[in-house]
Amino acid sequence: TVALSSIAKSFGSTKVLGGVDLDIADGEFLTLVGPSGCGKSTLIRIIAGLEHQDGGGVAIGGSRVDHLRPHERRVAMVFQSYALYPHMSVRANIALPLTMSRLSLRQRLPLLRLLSRRRREVMRGIEADVGAVAMQLQLDHLLDRKPAQLSGGQRQRVALGRAMVRQPAVFLMDEPLSNLDAKLRVHMRTELAELHKRLGATFIYVTHDQVEAMTMSDRVAMMDSGSILQLGTPSRLYEKPASLKVAQFIGSPA
Ligand code: ATP
Ligand code: MG
Repeated sequence: TVALSSIAKSFGSTKVLGGVDLDIADGEFLTLVGPSGCGKSTLIRIIAGLEHQDGGGVAIGGSRVDHLRPHERRVAMVFQSYALYPHMSVRANIALPLTMSRLSLRQRLPLLRLLSRRRREVMRGIEADVGAVAMQLQLDHLLDRKPAQLSGGQRQRVALGRAMVRQPAVFLMDEPLSNLDAKLRVHMRTELAELHKRLGATFIYVTHDQVEAMTMSDRVAMMDSGSILQLGTPSRLYEKPASLKVAQFIGSPA
């Protein structure tokens, strides 16, 4: 579970989140929707540990994680911009979270690299894990390319691979498909839904796209001005929107 209690956040004098409570079950696909600037990205950045809340707490799997840094939480974030390193191969981009956590700083130094047998063992393990993820995402034939040599959908898969390689319990996705053209977006929707099923992980997903929200999610949380207006299954929000704003976003009949 991911349990958010009274999460509050301001930037300077601007209040961005006004005490958000939200419980997300293990394996759930929960989607955050709402107008631009309502605080969706801020909320998932707080869950990821990339931003710190002013008040309230985040618990993952029953334990508070507020004091933990991003890589110490069992979460992985997928960004809209993919955030891939252009000078690194697909292989190295996917491996990055593992090289950061499994190799000591010393083992990462180029000069000492060849000397260490321990390092070679660790690298073999990393290689195997990257290979397994690449296979699942059909990236195995692209591992030696650089991000610039990939299509948008392939880049998106690399970003997903980098999130998957640490086997997180929780995936945080901030508009991961919004840079793709319409056709690819529809295709990736299906892929993401399948991936969610296959991994059995919790997905917390942000989108502007009603169709994505309505077709992929177990539940949808509609936010406005830093709080949750309504939380429920897609059909519940569609049939019983709590306000005109919800109805308008979801596209319910008036
Ligand atoms: P969008 O749909 O456009 O991505 P959002 O719901 O993700 O919007 P956030 O990015 O969470 O919105 O931003 C919420 C509010 O907080 C906005 O008014 C934004 O300008 C402000 N904000 C976000 N990050 C910062 C920051 N680092 N410093 C100051 N203000 C910020
Ligand atoms: Mg955002």
